[in-house]
Amino acid sequence: MYGWCGQRLRVDLSKGTIIKEPLSYEYRRKWIGGRGMNSEVIYREVPPNLDPFDPDARVCFGVGPISGTAAPASGRVTVSCKSPLTGGFGDSNMGGHWGAELKYAGYDQIIVQGRAPKPVYIWIDDDNVEIRDARHLWGKFPREADAMIKQELGDEDIHIVVIGPAGENLVRFASTFNDVYRAAGRTGHGAVIGSKNLKAIAVRGSGTVKIARPKEFFDVCNRLRQKFKTDPMRKFLYEIGSLSLINVANHDGWLSVNNFKQGAHPEAWRMSGEEHSKTVLKHREGCFACPICCGRFTEIKEGKYAGEYGGGPEYEHSVPTGPRVGVFDPNAIWHNMILTNNYGMDGIETGGVIATAMEWYEKGLITSKDTGGLELTWGNQEVVEKLITMIAMREGFGDVLADGASRAADRLGLGDEGHKYTIATRGMTLPGDDPRGLGFAYGVGFAIGTRGGCDHLRCLASLELSGFMYPGLNTKILGDERPVKPTTTVGKGYCCFYEENQKAMVDCLNVCCFTTHWSYAVLTADQVDYFNAVTGMDITEEEFMEIGERIVNLERAYWARLLSGKREDTIPERFQKEPMPKSVDGQTNVGYVFPVEKILPGYYKYRDYDPDTGFPSERRLKMLGLEDVAKDLAPLRAKYNSESEKKKKKYYY
Ligand code: SF4
Repeated sequence: MYGWCGQRLRVDLSKGTIIKEPLSYEYRRKWIGGRGMNSEVIYREVPPNLDPFDPDARVCFGVGPISGTAAPASGRVTVSCKSPLTGGFGDSNMGGHWGAELKYAGYDQIIVQGRAPKPVYIWIDDDNVEIRDARHLWGKFPREADAMIKQELGDEDIHIVVIGPAGENLVRFASTFNDVYRAAGRTGHGAVIGSKNLKAIAVRGSGTVKIARPKEFFDVCNRLRQKFKTDPMRKFLYEIGSLSLINVANHDGWLSVNNFKQGAHPEAWRMSGEEHSKTVLKHREGCFACPICCGRFTEIKEGKYAGEYGGGPEYEHSVPTGPRVGVFDPNAIWHNMILTNNYGMDGIETGGVIATAMEWYEKGLITSKDTGGLELTWGNQEVVEKLITMIAMREGFGDVLADGASRAADRLGLGDEGHKYTIATRGMTLPGDDPRGLGFAYGVGFAIGTRGGCDHLRCLASLELSGFMYPGLNTKILGDERPVKPTTTVGKGYCCFYEENQKAMVDCLNVCCFTTHWSYAVLTADQVDYFNAVTGMDITEEEFMEIGERIVNLERAYWARLLSGKREDTIPERFQKEPMPKSVDGQTNVGYVFPVEKILPGYYKYRDYDPDTGFPSERRLKMLGLEDVAKDLAPLRAKYNSESEKKKKKYYY
């Protein structure tokens, strides 16, 4: 056995049982690891109409065959479930060191099911696995729980996945952390973990990962590490982190300001990575085996929040509780980030739902009677700060927002007018990137992403985002340099098809997308090289990408079983109908709208999706070895277009 450990843990918290299940060669070859194996379990074991908080629901933690090796940034872990936010397929991944530790303990995956009668945590010490009392940890922030578990087990070097109070309170966008500050943010699996009365999973491993062809593997790793030395994206990410995007977004006009009403703001530079590095950066951090080290650690030095500290910020976490709600004071933004992390919530949905409520308030759809007296005006930091706590603790108006923007619109009875401002698709709020300026392939990713539609990472069309830094790369990969232009529709269908399949494989290997999609230092051929050298297999690049395609189709089929397809492949009206207004000099996307309808047919063609339903075709499912999935979808194709099903759904169950 090379690469993989060849077994997974199944922990049933209702029964208190722990089972080790072998993973066959055929299974590993078909699903690889991480996202692939997790998606397979969610599809087969979690019926589409099951309540995500039902004890029978699963939450999976998966790593890949090269996790824990010297391959660049190979320490990520994927967490998957049926999302309590969207009701559809959900997953998210995080860096840190927990993924590598799980491999050293001897497991490729953990499946948790059932519900413990009282709060517990799981302790994995190589072969010994225990379910332990966690009543004393309930209510603690991730950093507190992490320290208490380490002290209790007498080992400072264990790695721990943990949820915060928001997960315990079933906030539908609660997240999960490992090594305290590395978050798997999206789709709300923290609440599913909380619904199982599970606080944490602590891991200690003393094994290794066996490599089939060591010389070949280390030659590949050395070659790639040399490439990183001169990679332009690595330099930005190391020096100023993902906040390096703030000034770019503000210049190009794709920064989310006041719930995407604007794409830029004269004050935005104050929260840029350049300014952060000069003022509050304490040190840089890296995940397992990472040649980039983009992680930041912040300590606020002055003002009301002086003395607060925490991991981050990241671009996607800082924008939602900053410019998106009209806040531009950098210390307030860092404070909001630290607070959101302490409670254990997805920063994107937290800021998104507050911004949506602010727009409802502005438009008169809600008043201070609905909000318990809170004045939800743009830039009201006092209210933003209060609401973060109220959401996490499900207090007052915060309880309504804790269900996410789409459900909150329904709970408040706001009808279609309320949903118009949610800036969400398939029930999940969009991240802080405006497709009218960022790029049309990126925007299509929001419409078709398989973990809820609205996603900056699923499609991750960086060939258009960062392709300009790598002249000739679009031609090499897509056969055409034109898709590099953000605001063209040319070549975007194939670009999305390629990037989605490639990203699925990155998530199966559980390597960081900053090494493979953003920097392009590790191309698909390089990934195949290290995969083959570690596992001893000899798969081709074509076979490798076909596995990615299989995974995308399986996840898409999960949505199809919920009768979610072509009608739901859309993005909010604001991007399609409202031309981007001018907000600062130099902003380059003034006047643009996003023509999603022009790109989708081309994308469907490459995917071989049924043009009437948007479901994967029977022919393609069979070609990908998903005959049983084809059978599942057969009766649903006519049903999707029946009169009773024609109303577009906002979320599912
Ligand atoms: S690039 Fe950043 S997020 Fe990715 S593995 Fe390295 S430190 Fe972690």
